[in-house]
Amino acid sequence: MRVVVDLNRCQGYAQCAFLAPDVFRMHGDEALLYVPQAGVEQRERLAQAVAACPVQAILVDDGEDGDGGRRTLPAGALADGAGGHGGGGR
Ligand code: SF4
Repeated sequence: MRVVVDLNRCQGYAQCAFLAPDVFRMHGDEALLYVPQAGVEQRERLAQAVAACPVQAILVDDGEDGDGGRRTLPAGALADGAGGHGGGGR
């Protein structure tokens, strides 16, 4: 998910950093840092941050152009014959 913040609008209210701290972070009192590509697991928090921003400075593109990060593990990908391998001894 692509994240864009219009930094001309952003007033540094830090609502977004509070609601989605993995994506937004305040640097000093007013500068906002953010991750431009957030994982889909951030979707809900991002939605809250977008809704909470008092100046509507946050845009989230939910599209999957580019290298969108939706991946599924095939069933059994984690099935590995990890049995008992114990070293003896006392
Ligand atoms: S909530 Fe909006 S105004 Fe506040 S820091 Fe985030 S983007 Fe900027």
